[in-house]
Amino acid sequence: MTRRLGSGSLVIATHNAGKLKEIGALLDPYGVKCISAGSLGLPEPAETGTTFAQNALIKARAAAEASGLAALADDSGLSVAALDGRPGVYTADWAERQWFEGAPGRDWYMAMGKVEGMLAEKGKDVDRSAAFHCVLALAWPDGEYAIYEGRSDGSLTWPPRGAMGFGYDPVFVPAGAAQTFAEIAPEQKHAISHRADAFAKLVAEQFGA
Ligand code: IMP
Repeated sequence: MTRRLGSGSLVIATHNAGKLKEIGALLDPYGVKCISAGSLGLPEPAETGTTFAQNALIKARAAAEASGLAALADDSGLSVAALDGRPGVYTADWAERQWFEGAPGRDWYMAMGKVEGMLAEKGKDVDRSAAFHCVLALAWPDGEYAIYEGRSDGSLTWPPRGAMGFGYDPVFVPAGAAQTFAEIAPEQKHAISHRADAFAKLVAEQFGA
């Protein structure tokens, strides 16, 4: 049987304030007090894994070992069927503007264009199916861990549509829908997203009856 968190403190292994706020709100009803890895001054480990689960676990374990508390980390990204699952764990890296002059940063239109260019090379009848993945890893200081995998299936459209959301949302149309993730209200996206799927699994196992 999987170990349970119970109420108490949980380190959220992210230095992203938005993620911390979102995760804190999701776990607050269960009496969990979330502390960010950043506020404890924990270093960010290199994400050297080749799967979302490996990277989430690397981050959760590093935070649990350094803090002596249970820790939660996530890793997410887009997998495109016709590109053998790429960009996958490199989803954010594909947006890196490292070869541009000027300020470094991420350019999501460039990243979406790169995916589209690779699909176009495969011909007009290419399979455009894709899935967003979100993997949550919960780790305890003694090495025990649990993994929760969420996904949202859909297909890629071009050109990008919509101004809401972030990352690759403007080109992702969830299965059975006509609008992209960037065209629907955030609440609608959160109800069907890969992140919601992973959190539902964590909450069911950790806090369910
Ligand atoms: P990470 O999980 O912070 O490493 O981020 C992975 C990358 O996947 C993000 O930077 C986004 O580009 C992409 N991604 C993850 N979830 C979503 C989503 O819900 N919409 C759009 N892009 C996403």
